Amino acid sequence: MSTLLSTQGLVARYGDFQALFGLDLQVAAGEVVALIGANGAGKSTLLRSLCGLLPVAPGMVRLDGQDVGGQAPHEMVRRGVALVPEGRRLFAGMTVEDNLRVAIDQARKLRVRAHGEAWTLERLHALFPALASKARVPVESLSGGQQQMVAIGRALLLQPRLLLCDELSLGLAPLVIREIYAALPGIAAAGTAIVVVEQDVALAQRASQRLYCLLEGRITLQGASAAIPREAIAQAYFGTT
Ligand code: ATP
Repeated sequence: MSTLLSTQGLVARYGDFQALFGLDLQVAAGEVVALIGANGAGKSTLLRSLCGLLPVAPGMVRLDGQDVGGQAPHEMVRRGVALVPEGRRLFAGMTVEDNLRVAIDQARKLRVRAHGEAWTLERLHALFPALASKARVPVESLSGGQQQMVAIGRALLLQPRLLLCDELSLGLAPLVIREIYAALPGIAAAGTAIVVVEQDVALAQRASQRLYCLLEGRITLQGASAAIPREAIAQAYFGTT
């Protein structure tokens, strides 16, 4: 599979505090990659760096071979990178459909091009049938899991080639976590690579083709998810030897 995204020596800082120390990673077109690591390891910081929310220097991030280091968030959206943020950040007081239409309008304004079959409201309803009957209800009246589906849908309507998902399962019931994760392989197979931050290591391993473990801003483990022994993950996660 061809490389969609790569980073070379990616560093990220919050003022004087350095959060990421020279990360090299790759995401191939159509694959699901999991990011694991303890609280504060730098997973959210990495996602923010990949979508332009945190400034990174030129040369550190390539998308389809093009240097996108230092591009603004809207430019990253235009180039096909969308984020499902931690905590979902939906627009309370608006209906489900209006939340989704914000993304449709944004994609139109930015002249985003769909790669392959375009994501539409109909296609989202097929992906998450639970949303189909909820179009006209205020988004805050949905369950947490359904709100997460809206957040994913909002990102998909930006027609991404790369979907960055921060903590999809946080605070959700096991059944709905399964439903959300069941949707990921289809999204990836249809041409959108996925990077997902996941606290549940076993779930991360099951749901991804490859995974990276971060510890204190450095990659401590990477490889094919199914082939990594549990002990190696535990070591990389906690930094024990
Ligand atoms: P979590 O699972 O808790 O979200 P994480 O792996 O996503 O953890 P990050 O949120 O990326 O970790 O944080 C990485 C480091 O950067 C931590 O030491 C954190 O305290 C620090 N950090 C995160 N956001 C900021 C910020 N806005 N200002 C200063 N430091 C920050």
